[in-house]
Amino acid sequence: MKITGYECVELTGTLEGYDDPQSFYEERLAIPLDVYEEFRTVGAEYLMGSDDVMTPYVTDEEIRITQTYLVLRTDEGLEGVAGPIDREWAGLVAPIAEFLLGRDALATAKLWDLMYRHEVHGRRGKTMKAISVIDCALWDLKGKYYDEPVYRLLGGPTRTEIPAYASMLGYSVEPEDVRERAQEMKEAGYRAQKWFFRHGPGSGTEGLQRNVELAETARDAVGEGYDLMFDCWMSWDRPYAERAIRKLEAYDPRWIEEPVHPDKLDQLADLRATSPIPIAGGEHEYTRWGIHQLLQRDALDVIQADTCWAGGITELQRICTLASVHDVPVIPHGHSVSANLHLTAAQSPTVSPMLEYLVKWNEGFQFFLEDPPVPEDGTLSLDDRPGLGIVVDESTVEERTVVHSSDE
Ligand SMILES: [Mg+2]
Repeated sequence: MKITGYECVELTGTLEGYDDPQSFYEERLAIPLDVYEEFRTVGAEYLMGSDDVMTPYVTDEEIRITQTYLVLRTDEGLEGVAGPIDREWAGLVAPIAEFLLGRDALATAKLWDLMYRHEVHGRRGKTMKAISVIDCALWDLKGKYYDEPVYRLLGGPTRTEIPAYASMLGYSVEPEDVRERAQEMKEAGYRAQKWFFRHGPGSGTEGLQRNVELAETARDAVGEGYDLMFDCWMSWDRPYAERAIRKLEAYDPRWIEEPVHPDKLDQLADLRATSPIPIAGGEHEYTRWGIHQLLQRDALDVIQADTCWAGGITELQRICTLASVHDVPVIPHGHSVSANLHLTAAQSPTVSPMLEYLVKWNEGFQFFLEDPPVPEDGTLSLDDRPGLGIVVDESTVEERTVVHSSDE
């Protein structure tokens, strides 16, 4: 089966259900730029996107969803689908997909190697994200060719239900809201949840106290014996993290995530060596080589490589193998639950024990999907759809534009 063409198709639709569209995102997470006041004072609008990225584009009147899906076409008439991605990302996918035209679509390991060797300046970051999405589309294609879900082709399922943790990006971190939502998620059946700190070193002692208050409130809401995690999204530094961890220890977090910038490997390893709270990270690291450095340095307790960013399903399998040698679990970052689900379902429960489910984010992110993976009672169930099960629900699509294609 040969790859004969590709399309990056941009879909637009309207997310209903919010009387006040501006209330979609209530709060944002801390970002590395927050050391500067001009960024620190920007609120939840930071997450509201624009019309060319896939985060919801929120105006006073409506919530517009614009996302791009990659479609790989073959001489057998089968199509491999992956995504969603945004417009810029699609622009990086197109020339790499072009490079694969005429090649054997089922030879996923060879195609990965070809893409990697071809993109010598793109070993990390955005180009690797483009390679990742193409790899996911190739696995979708392979699943359709063999009429099997991808997790079967990968050697699974190792179980039919996978625990998901509620990831609370975008929700208010005001104490009364945290209390209510944390209890709500627990009652919905999630056995773990993650909250996002809003403050970093730029907000000083007052901000630190608000971060601690978030942990205190969440713990008080869910009680003891329940997993709570907290994400710093690369926005702290070592002294701040050490100070925060001393205060946060009392609330027994299961992990603290990305306390420092991904390039600060030494600081991360030092923190992990001294922190009584486990350290998670790796969502902004790429390929087996990037993750290997983290593992060699004993820098993390949990690896969070993202299937759609770090190299696709082909590379994430290798990352899982590497991490298993170190007894460090892989709990993939939640860009695409569809892709992560198939990967994790084919790994030992000790190697990949659970998945991230971004509760608010996925209202927009999975907007165009027919039967998207949504946890019930805190678990994601496998289905038998061939490939990755990424199927667009046409009733949600208002506009469709081919932004790149092999026909150009
Ligand atoms: Mg994170």
